[in-house]
Amino acid sequence: MSDQQMLLLKTNLKQLRLPTISAEFEKLAREAAERNQRHETYLLRLTELEVASRQTNALQARIKAAGFPVHKDFDTFDFSAIPSLNKQKVLELARGQWIEEHANVCLIGSCGTGKTHVATALGLAACRQGRRVRFFTAANLVTRLEEAQKQYQLDRILAQLDKADLLICDELGYLSFSRAGAELLFQVFADRYERASLLITSNLAFSDWGQVFQGERMTAALLDRLTHRCHIFEMNGESYRFRESVKAKKEATKAAAAKHEK
Ligand code: ADP
Ligand code: MG
Repeated sequence: MSDQQMLLLKTNLKQLRLPTISAEFEKLAREAAERNQRHETYLLRLTELEVASRQTNALQARIKAAGFPVHKDFDTFDFSAIPSLNKQKVLELARGQWIEEHANVCLIGSCGTGKTHVATALGLAACRQGRRVRFFTAANLVTRLEEAQKQYQLDRILAQLDKADLLICDELGYLSFSRAGAELLFQVFADRYERASLLITSNLAFSDWGQVFQGERMTAALLDRLTHRCHIFEMNGESYRFRESVKAKKEATKAAAAKHEK
């Protein structure tokens, strides 16, 4: 192939937005010639590489757009540390059928028991299935909604949230909101009812949600919708971090004692 043809080919690949093919075609062409490969086989290999890199990029983009605070997955979650959590059920949810069904998930429990970790891992699983996910703390979400409302941009942010197949609202109950803030959050949650999934984590039992959504009527209306089709997990126990640090201290003391005895 002449230099001019090569240049033209590269320009075409660029115009067609095929960067992986553009990067790989020369090397693969040499290999194909060495192996006497058919042209179709060569073309198949090239398109496979392009498709794979697009899928990877799209996944990375979905994960970035989700806005997870940390990258925590099930591979680092120790289910034996929280036996009250049904591992089978959680892993079943990671398959994503509940999002298909527009059901909800609530993770309720004390601080440090892995709620954010599990919520993020479920969110990542959804991203891998090609679903759109948005992650917020309740406080952040309310602030965003209030700011948007002030700037007459509420419809815009509501439309954005509406596009998410899964909305994760972490730490509901850590901070209470203004009445207006609570109403905005209620609106977002109520809008999703039977249309799209919601995952909420909270340190508060449902009976205490009145503190967040000031007013019994709004709380009752919310809980009615939220729990209608909801997988509820109670994650109570000692803080994982606390337990790990106690364990580390104990081991350090033991090691020191052993050294002393020697
Ligand atoms: P919560 O949101 O319930 O307060 P987090 O999910 O933030 O708790 O957990 C606190 C820390 O402990 C995080 O770093 C998390 O990764 C870790 N952690 C909690 N539970 C587990 C567990 N069962 N296995 C591994 N790490 C855990
Ligand atoms: Mg948390």
